[in-house]
Amino acid sequence: MAVTDHVDLNGFMEGVKKRNPYQPEFVQAVQEVAEDIFEFMQDKEEYHSQQILRRIAEPDRVVSFRVCWEDDAGNIRVQRGWRVQNNNAIGPYKGGIRFHPSVTESVLKFLAFEQTFKNALTGLPMGGGKGGSNFNPKGKSVREIMRFCQSFMTELYRHIGADIDVPAGDIGVGGREIGFMFGQYKRITNNFTGVLTGKGLEWGGSLIRTEATGYGAVYFLENMLATKGENLEGKTAVISGSGNVATHAAEKIVQLGGKVLTLSDSGGFIHDPDGIDQEKIYWVKTHKTHRRGRIEEYVEAFPNATFHAGKTPWGVPCDVALPCATQNELLGEDAKTLVANGCKAVSEGANMPTDLDGVHTFKHAKILYAPGKASNAGGVAVSGLEMSQNSERRSWKEEELQQMLKDIMSGIHNSCIQYGNQGGGYIDYVKGANIAGFKKVADAMLAFGVV
Ligand code: NDP
Repeated sequence: MAVTDHVDLNGFMEGVKKRNPYQPEFVQAVQEVAEDIFEFMQDKEEYHSQQILRRIAEPDRVVSFRVCWEDDAGNIRVQRGWRVQNNNAIGPYKGGIRFHPSVTESVLKFLAFEQTFKNALTGLPMGGGKGGSNFNPKGKSVREIMRFCQSFMTELYRHIGADIDVPAGDIGVGGREIGFMFGQYKRITNNFTGVLTGKGLEWGGSLIRTEATGYGAVYFLENMLATKGENLEGKTAVISGSGNVATHAAEKIVQLGGKVLTLSDSGGFIHDPDGIDQEKIYWVKTHKTHRRGRIEEYVEAFPNATFHAGKTPWGVPCDVALPCATQNELLGEDAKTLVANGCKAVSEGANMPTDLDGVHTFKHAKILYAPGKASNAGGVAVSGLEMSQNSERRSWKEEELQQMLKDIMSGIHNSCIQYGNQGGGYIDYVKGANIAGFKKVADAMLAFGVV
């Protein structure tokens, strides 16, 4: 008799845990998806017999490599780099590169797994991947960062390509780092292709790529609120993070008439009861990105605000919340507090910021809750559009791209409704996103047979 994955959810998860010891983030991400997919697959024999979920939860490959570089004092430093190529059933692997001391194989496997569904949801032909290193860019000189990026690319270049795997930025990797890596790729291969996205506008980048993730998360939030006949006008928002995603989410909320009360970094959060307006957001962008400062210094510039060291902002009462910093930054207790304080909607800018307890709390309370794989897909969507522009060797105008981003976010919202409508006015966006993303990848895999 053929072996199938006709086990129940618990049996399946036991297997995932056994095969991936010491990889809690990866196991958590698979569990969140499997909870919805098992129900969906119940009457779909071909997904079972072809072991589709089991195959998506096993990366195509994980490349791990040594990255040596020399610091400014002449010391030899050794870091570990990875590229996880999870699934390329619907297009070349695509996903960011993260430089942060918390990076492990487990974190990158969870991100590549999530990316597979997210990319499918955008409707663009992109598979799922992710990469990075435990290198900590904080406190490093620009020269040190350049040498690290060059060394990282000296190994990575052989695993990527415009039709193979197209990395982008993520935490700790912005336009500058993409520039250093693209320069090294071009030098080694003598090939000018769209092998990375998030590039500078002068050398193949796309307009609105920088803003796309944060703006997209707010467009998704507006789509959710519209199902209740509401919008952001006059609503209060609590946001975590103060990097690319958080500051652009804040900017779009302000543009749409909302009031942003908080931002944060790994040191704590600031609460500004007057609202963080465009001018203050600009100050944060300059302070965090260019001066590499800490968010706590905000209160010196804007004395009506308060700083809360070592804390997350979820206790501040609000209408909407956007976790935009990192994974597992919003726990079950935080979710309960948000719900108790009357929060109506949560749109995730970060990847898996809410832990499983928190996810269950939001679902149980039936508030509008969008998982990152749906709501933060705007960034990778514009990356996909950057790839198209590179292939065509042309650049689209800002208005065209803004409209495409809005349309893609509305399309993702519609897919979530298609598979997540539970009746009685409740849409389970997690379920909708998981099933819509899974179905597209799974059907492509069925077409390829056992490969
Ligand atoms: P940035 O590096 O620009 O900013 C990250 C922010 O999160 C910083 O404010 C950082 O604070 C904070 N942060 C990082 N780690 C922690 C931690 N352990 N605890 C508290 N705060 C922390 O990254 P992005 O804005 O690009 O990314 C943020 C999230 O969005 C990530 O989950 C990323 O995967 C996701 N994402 C990003 C996309 C993009 O286009 N950039 C696309 C889709 C998802 P500090 O300065 O102190 O480190």
